[in-house]
Amino acid sequence: MDRESKQAAKDLRAMYRELGTWTDVAGRLGLNVGQVWNTAKGRKRASAKVLVALGYPTRKVLAPVCPECGVVHVKNCPKVRRPRVKRAFVDWPRRRLVQALEKTGARYRELLAALEQQETQ
Ligand SMILES: [Zn+2]
Repeated sequence: MDRESKQAAKDLRAMYRELGTWTDVAGRLGLNVGQVWNTAKGRKRASAKVLVALGYPTRKVLAPVCPECGVVHVKNCPKVRRPRVKRAFVDWPRRRLVQALEKTGARYRELLAALEQQETQ
């Protein structure tokens, strides 16, 4: 458990001693009881929500600069377009094709064609 979580757990237990019930502790902080209890018992890391509710700054994580565009970002680089790898319907197992056909009307023709192609193979 990290330092923030240990401190948060300590604070929550102190609040519990003062207020008497976990429901009251959670209510005071505007958090979910389970979340509060799990954090107080050290079963879960203190989430950003818990840290903020207790008045701590949230954790800061060092992120590397993107080698593609030179900017720090959390998700995939918006400047780089990666083609989505899509499995051709023909390669889908028959069961899945039938399910998809039943479930959606979307791309119906392609699915049907794939099914037919599989049957002739
Ligand atoms: Zn980038």
